[in-house]
Amino acid sequence: MSSLDTRIVVVGDSIAACTAVRELRARGHDGPLTMIGADADGCYARPPLSKHVLKGEAVEAETWDLSDLGIETIDDRAVSVDTERHIVTTGAGNEVPYDRLIVATGAAARRIAAPGQTGETVLRTFDDVRTLRPKLDAAQRAIVVGAGFLGMEVASACVSRGIAVTVVDVDPPLQRLLGPFLSDAITARAEAASVEFLRADSPVTLRGDPVTGIEFGGRSLDADLVVTCAGDVPETEWLRGTGIADDRGVAIDERCTTALPDVFAAGDVAYSGSGRAPFWSNAVAQGKVAAASALGLEPKCAPTDDYFWTEILGLSIKVVGPLPLQGEPTVLEGSVDDGSALLQWDHDDGRTTIVAFGIKKAVGLLRKLARNNAVPTT
Ligand SMILES: Cc1cc2nc3c(=O)[nH]c(=O)nc-3n(C[C@H](O)[C@H](O)[C@H](O)COP(=O)(O)OP(=O)(O)OC[C@H]3O[C@@H](n4cnc5c(N)ncnc54)[C@H](O)[C@@H]3O)c2cc1C
Repeated sequence: MSSLDTRIVVVGDSIAACTAVRELRARGHDGPLTMIGADADGCYARPPLSKHVLKGEAVEAETWDLSDLGIETIDDRAVSVDTERHIVTTGAGNEVPYDRLIVATGAAARRIAAPGQTGETVLRTFDDVRTLRPKLDAAQRAIVVGAGFLGMEVASACVSRGIAVTVVDVDPPLQRLLGPFLSDAITARAEAASVEFLRADSPVTLRGDPVTGIEFGGRSLDADLVVTCAGDVPETEWLRGTGIADDRGVAIDERCTTALPDVFAAGDVAYSGSGRAPFWSNAVAQGKVAAASALGLEPKCAPTDDYFWTEILGLSIKVVGPLPLQGEPTVLEGSVDDGSALLQWDHDDGRTTIVAFGIKKAVGLLRKLARNNAVPTT
């Protein structure tokens, strides 16, 4: 089948999907290309939402224009797929045929409200920002459930707005993602900025209907804003019955191929042998690899990219390399206590992780240092 005859359908409308459609055209697919996306705000970047958009420094989401690609866009939710007849069905009953399908439906915010309990606030979409921003404008006291990078970014927005904030988690801040050394450094910085941390010894539940506070381990706490930042859940409901999704998402190989040879997956919806890494750079890498594979071409990059960044209390943290980070790093430059340091961790398997902790360094340089094992420590 020539490229002109091959009908490719991409489901999703965020970074993995947009990267895939761009790559499909860039790699020579001149045939029919359809993108089905459920977000009424279209294609936009999520990372700014919890940073300057939440702080109020930017009003709108940063959107992408795909009009130069000659693709058909369907603004609707895919509700099912028949992998034998090769048809995706949307909520409005549209039946969209495909020869190759790319699944890029990402993830939704994990919610902790009890069934029927109203007023839970999460942050995943621009629409969530519309709900959250006025609440932040009015709040004097906030609780953030979850001390991962998203919870810490929301807490940072509270601090920048002068809102007293308590962050509650069963683990220390960012420890699951970054390891104890950086967790301690970030906690110290956040506490110095008056962020209160509470360790929950049991899962946190929301109290009130609508929500007015939280409960855990016999304690209860109220605030005029409670934000749940408790992780995400892969968007796989529409794939039920296909056999390619389980509760971890859609399993992919190093070509981003699923258990079905004509179905590929990329981004937060996908997981590989090394697990699920729901970060921006991975979604970009997998979008490119899935596109190349859908065309039967050799991918030009690896299906994983271990660059991750976050911004916490005015501190930019960029990480290149495997996570989490155990033990003490080698300090290549600056000082962690001063909030400006270049750090190196060497792993037992010979790989290296480089962290720019509040220090201005280009990502390309960090990648080079990680690749070249910056400073041999043995
Ligand atoms: C607020 C926020 C801040 C972040 N900041 C950072 C950061 O600083 N650094 C970093 O590395 N990562 C960050 N991330 C993570 C990063 O944004 C994600 O890894 C990335 O968005 C994943 O892209 P994706 O395209 O796979 O999925 P998603 O971004 O989840 O997009 C999937 C899209 O598919 C659509 N969709 C879902 N189901 C269907 C369906 N059935 N039919 C049609 N369309 C559907 C959804 O509407 C959605 O638009 C952040 C995430 C959030 C939420």
